[in-house]
Amino acid sequence: MSNNKSDFLVIGAGIAGASAAARLSQHGSVIVLERESQPGYHTTGRSAATFEPSYGSHDVRKLILASEEFLRSPTVGYGDGSSFLSPRGIMAIFRADQKEAMEREFEDVQSTSPDFRILSQQETLERVPILDPDYMAASIYSDLAQDIDVHALHQAYLGVIKSNDSQLIVNADVTAISHHASGGDWHVDTAKAGSFSAPIVINAAGAWCDVMAELAGVPAIGLEPRRRNAVLIPGPEGYDVSSWPMLGGSDPAFYFKPDAGRLMVSPEDAIPSPPCDARPDEMDIAIAIDRFENATTVSVKRPEHTWAGLRSFVADEMLVAGFDPDPAHSGFFWLTGQGGYGIETSPAMSLIASSLVRGTAFPDHMAAFDLSAADVAPGRLK
Ligand SMILES: Cc1cc2nc3c(=O)[nH]c(=O)nc-3n(C[C@H](O)[C@H](O)[C@H](O)COP(=O)(O)OP(=O)(O)OC[C@H]3O[C@@H](n4cnc5c(N)ncnc54)[C@H](O)[C@@H]3O)c2cc1C
Repeated sequence: MSNNKSDFLVIGAGIAGASAAARLSQHGSVIVLERESQPGYHTTGRSAATFEPSYGSHDVRKLILASEEFLRSPTVGYGDGSSFLSPRGIMAIFRADQKEAMEREFEDVQSTSPDFRILSQQETLERVPILDPDYMAASIYSDLAQDIDVHALHQAYLGVIKSNDSQLIVNADVTAISHHASGGDWHVDTAKAGSFSAPIVINAAGAWCDVMAELAGVPAIGLEPRRRNAVLIPGPEGYDVSSWPMLGGSDPAFYFKPDAGRLMVSPEDAIPSPPCDARPDEMDIAIAIDRFENATTVSVKRPEHTWAGLRSFVADEMLVAGFDPDPAHSGFFWLTGQGGYGIETSPAMSLIASSLVRGTAFPDHMAAFDLSAADVAPGRLK
């Protein structure tokens, strides 16, 4: 076997590609092609790093819950054995005129995370004293949400690829993908790193998944990248923010969470965007700060850092893992639609992807969460 031929070719070394490649490297040779010099350069390195079991649709929540065990107590070989999670907590605040919205939200999150409870204004202020009592009337709260050490998790996946003698090739911009309709290997060309072939190609190119499909002559899945802005502000003077939960408000939407002594603030925007190196938008950053200032007694003098990332969704906002349903494209595997939950679902999605790629039974561990291959199949969208 030449160096450029493998059992599995993965395009993209963000959290989706890296996690799937790590699992697959335990069963065969894998080559991961990454365009950037840093695998976490795009969305994976720009997240809010939160494990939140009450986030997204009920099916998404199943994937998050099914990932918890691995994140808390990683499989041997993934990192140094330490948990990737640490306590954070999650709080949603409501104004006096949002009583009905609070009741609806409480009912919804309780259906999957029964430990949510309603906190009075006073109880809420005891946890986050900078909130403005003229704005916030009450909140709902759960301890379940955790911080994720995204860098350690991503490095753990990349480390497994290496230790299984598979390869990550950076600066490998995929420019062409071809396949004979009669079957056989997929051939993938890169701009500067050479050509590669494998019977199975896994499309984990994040916001570029439909671009990769187009290169391969496979119909698009209808992926919509949506830009989200974020700003880091100094921790308010006189407060130790480290134990504060992640906190969100709705209508207008915003959230903030502690980040190494500072606060990350986002306007929770989701602006459709072509796939690109997303840049923060001054107006959206100003909106984030305005919403933060309205809900708190803090005035922001100097943002320290701003950024934006693309969260990419398919039509039903559930994730996608499976072979393209058209037999003419056999061996073309979709791993996409990670949206705003690609980090916290990566343990479950990579296990599912590894089973489906190899044609083995759907993992029992996932079936126990009432998940099936049909829930993530690309065919549901085509
Ligand atoms: C502000 C923000 C907050 C978020 N908060 C959370 C959170 O709290 N919890 C959570 O779980 N998720 C969160 N997310 C979502 C999460 O970050 C994503 O779902 C996840 O990172 C997507 O991973 P990915 O591997 O699919 O994409 P990416 O990390 O973008 O990786 C795709 C890779 O494919 C590569 N690629 C593309 N085209 C080519 C090509 N032609 N050749 C070779 N390589 C190519 C790219 O260079 C890139 O490295 C957040 C996202 C944002 C923006």
